[in-house]
Amino acid sequence: MSQTSITDILNSSPLDLTPYESLYKHFHANPELSCQEKNTSEKIASHLASLNAFEITTNIGGYGLTAVLKNGPGKTVLLRADMDALPVKEETGLPYASTVTMADADGAIKPVMHACGHDMHITALLAASELLSSPEIRKRWSGTLIALFQPNEERGHGAASMLADGLYNKIPLPDICLGQHVMRLRGGSIHSKRGTIMAAADSMRITVFGRGGHGSLPHTTVDPVLLAAHIVVRLQGVVSREINPDDVGVLTVGSLVAGQTENVIADKAEIGIDFRSVRVETRDAIVAAVERIVRAECLASGSPREPIFTPTRRFPPTFNTHDVADKLAVSFGDHFGPDFEPDTERTMVAEDFSVLATGRGIPCCFWFLGGIDQETWDGAVSNGSTGEIPGNHSARFAPVIQPTLKAGVEALCVAALTFLREGV
Ligand SMILES: [Zn+2]
Ligand SMILES: [Zn+2]
Repeated sequence: MSQTSITDILNSSPLDLTPYESLYKHFHANPELSCQEKNTSEKIASHLASLNAFEITTNIGGYGLTAVLKNGPGKTVLLRADMDALPVKEETGLPYASTVTMADADGAIKPVMHACGHDMHITALLAASELLSSPEIRKRWSGTLIALFQPNEERGHGAASMLADGLYNKIPLPDICLGQHVMRLRGGSIHSKRGTIMAAADSMRITVFGRGGHGSLPHTTVDPVLLAAHIVVRLQGVVSREINPDDVGVLTVGSLVAGQTENVIADKAEIGIDFRSVRVETRDAIVAAVERIVRAECLASGSPREPIFTPTRRFPPTFNTHDVADKLAVSFGDHFGPDFEPDTERTMVAEDFSVLATGRGIPCCFWFLGGIDQETWDGAVSNGSTGEIPGNHSARFAPVIQPTLKAGVEALCVAALTFLREGV
């Protein structure tokens, strides 16, 4: 391996990020909901085409797209950014705040905002693509670079739908998948860890059936409200009574819908649950317990029909392959110094990034990018109020463009070059 450090390579050919700051504002002001990222995807494709270096494939699993640069023998490294926004009414007051509304999947008109910072992920990956494909930098690495822009992260199906659409028949199979997420952390800082960095998250809709009738004649009915109420109470015991206290789990009943009016006994109830876990075994134990309790309560109530379980979202845990995380810890430590945290706290927030890797046994690593103004962050740390700074999914989540963008671009380049320099 050459003695030149990755930092020296990046410093030898700095990229002017001014156009990318404008591009970030454009994406921020023009967010699109999950599965509707049409204009975002077209803008990304045309920007990538203007770099004159990549083979571009569009419309993979919806509006997903990839850009591939084959640059000699070596590793194939995939860098991933997600593209979708949320049905949130922006309240940041920023000059480039979104005023966009669009129809969601059910046809309801919703305000739309990049409240999870995916606009930062897109912009950083576009800038990293320009930098890594520039003639000066390209001479310094060998292998294949893939920039992947994923739709529909927020509903949890984007990575899976790209795979289902034959992603790895359209592009080379990567040796390593890498990705990042802007978070409520000090601007410009990078945080990662070996092992599980983000929890698994599942959502499920459960329909239980009764036999409706007149409110005055309960003995002629099976009341689904009473049935659902028993289920809601019993579900509270799953994590507290069945999961090892040393382990981590969350189960929330987020919705309960039954009946139309006071004097009619309904004929069904719908229960919406969300659960989080860190270990696959724990997830399976929660699913099994939920099914057991629901079926048993249906039996206890004399329900006339089997309950229906409809999974609505599924995010696996994001597990950073030890070997990849260890190599990145060295590169990030060298490049970012004290702004890199190698053993960050695991979060119960979830991501579908790892679906791109784990299904094919590909090693992967994910890291967090701090997006909060440094002065604001340091002030909040000194008075213990960092929790009050608006974070991801808040209508007031407002990452500062710099140094967030610069650090996001550098993190992608440092991470990719860690593996693309191995054969040089
Ligand atoms: Zn999100
Ligand atoms: Zn996100």
